[in-house]
Amino acid sequence: MPFAPQTDTRQPVQQETLRRIEQLHRLQCAFFAGGHTLPLQFRKAQLHKLQQVLKQHEQELFDALYADFRKPALEAYGTEIGFIELELKLALKKVDDWAKPRRVPETLINFPARSYVYPQPYGVALIISPWNYPLNLLFIPLIGAIAAGNCAILKPSEIAPNTAAVVNRIISQNFDERYLAVVEGGVEATTHLLAQRFDYIFFTGSTQVGRIVMKAAAEHLTPVTLELGGKSPAIVTQDADLELAARRICWGKFLNAGQTCVAPDYVLVQEDVKEDFIEQMAHCITDFYGSHPAESPDFARIINDNHFARLSKMLTPENIRIGGKTDTDTRYIDPTILDNITWEHPSMQEEIFGPILPVLSFTDLDEAIMMVNRHEKPLALYFFSANREDQKRILKEVTFGGGCINDTISHLANPNLPFGGVGNSGLGSYHGIASFDVFSHQKSVLHRGTWLDLPFRYPPYGDKLKLLRKFLRWL
Ligand code: NAD
Repeated sequence: MPFAPQTDTRQPVQQETLRRIEQLHRLQCAFFAGGHTLPLQFRKAQLHKLQQVLKQHEQELFDALYADFRKPALEAYGTEIGFIELELKLALKKVDDWAKPRRVPETLINFPARSYVYPQPYGVALIISPWNYPLNLLFIPLIGAIAAGNCAILKPSEIAPNTAAVVNRIISQNFDERYLAVVEGGVEATTHLLAQRFDYIFFTGSTQVGRIVMKAAAEHLTPVTLELGGKSPAIVTQDADLELAARRICWGKFLNAGQTCVAPDYVLVQEDVKEDFIEQMAHCITDFYGSHPAESPDFARIINDNHFARLSKMLTPENIRIGGKTDTDTRYIDPTILDNITWEHPSMQEEIFGPILPVLSFTDLDEAIMMVNRHEKPLALYFFSANREDQKRILKEVTFGGGCINDTISHLANPNLPFGGVGNSGLGSYHGIASFDVFSHQKSVLHRGTWLDLPFRYPPYGDKLKLLRKFLRWL
C-alpha cells in the first residue's frame, strides 16, 4: 500500500452497523455465559492463534501502517508488532500461574478457615483504541482480556483506516465472532457500542473522550480502565550528561513523528546549560535524520489534515530554533525545537502530539517541580540528572503515571512495570500481569471449617462486648 495523502473522513454510520453492534454484543454475552472461555486450554489456544495470525499477516500490517502515516518498518516492529509478540509470549508462559487462586493469610477471628482470591473474567469487554499505535494499543489490552478469559469487541480508530481494515479482516477470518469481533467506525459507532452493557471497558485515547467513556460506563456501572494523554515533561538539570539526554529525548520525541502518548511533550532545562543542550539536540536531529529530514525514510508523517493544521499553528516563526519547515501535501513537519517559550504559547495549551518540542528553562529544582505540579498530573515524566538526591526528590514530590530517570519511553518496554496514568492522564494500568489483573474480577472467598462453631458471635449478646474488645485488642 503506498503512503497516500488523505483527509479525515467520518462517514455517517449505517443502521446496519448499529444492528450489528447489538447482535455482536448479544452473541458474545451468550457465548461467555456458556462458559466456553473459562478453560485455560481455550485461552492459551486463542493466544497461540493470535500469535500465528499476526505472524502470517505481518507484512500487510506493516504496509497498512505505512499507508496510514508512513510509519517506518523498524518503528512498526519495535513499538507495535515486536512488542505484542513479547506480551503474547509472556502471557502464554505465565497464564497458568496468573489464573491460580491465590491464598492469603488468615485471621484468628475466623478460625478455623482458609481464604483465597479467585481471579474471574468479567465477561464481555469493549476495547477502544486510538490511531497512533493502532496495533499495540488494541492487541496488548486484548492479550490481557483473552488470558483472563473474557470475550471482546475491538474498536480500532477510524483515523488509521488502513490498519483498522486489516485488523478487522484478520480477526474476522480467524476468530469466532461470538468470542472476538472488530467494529470499525468513529464517534457514532463508538457511542452505540458504549450504550450496550459491557462487563468491562478498556479505553485508550484523549482525556476529553475518556470523560465521555466514563460517563457512558457509569450508566451501567461498568468498570473502566482509561489510558489517556497529557503533557509529559522532560527535566534536564545542569549536572546531567547533556549529550546523552539530548539523544534520548530526541529519540523519544521524534519517534512516530512525536505522535506518542508518552513522548516528552516539552523540556524544562536548567538555565545555565540551555544553549549547550539545544546545540546537542541540533546534532542529534542531523545524526538521526540527516540535514533534510523530509528525505529520511525513518521519520513518519502527521496522521491527517486536521492534526497537521492544529500543529502548524504552534510553529510561531519567532520561536523556531531548529527545523520548522512543513509540507501540506505530504503532511510533513520537520523535527522542530522551539525556544523562548512561555506557558501562554499555543504549544503549551494542549498536548502537542507531533514533532514539535518547546524548551523552557528553570533556575533551580524547586522551580522545576513547582512548574510541573501547577499543571495536570502527567502520564510520563523523564528526569535527567546525575544527582541521586534530586532524583529522589522528583520521585517523592511529583505525581505522574510512570517514567524514567535518564531515559525516555523505555519504561514501557518492561512488562513487569504496570503502565498507566493518574488523574487526568488515566485510571488503571496494564502490561504483563497487570493486563491479566485488569480484566479479572478478584473474587475473595473464605472457606470456613465446619468442625468448630463457637457460640460467641450469636445473640443473645449479653455482656460479650467487653470480651470482644479485649479479644480485638489482643489480636
Ligand atoms: P481520541 O480520544 O480522539 O479517540 C480514541 C478512540 O475514541 C477512537 O477509537 C475514536 O473513534 C473514539 N472516539 C473519538 N471521539 C469519540 C466520542 N466523542 N465518543 C466516543 N468515542 C469517540 O484519541 P486519538 O486522537 O485517537 O488519540 C490521541 C490521544 O490518545 C492523545 O491524547 C494521546 O495522548 C492518547 N493516547 C494515550 C495512550 C496511553 O496509553 N495512555 C496511548 C496512545 C494515545
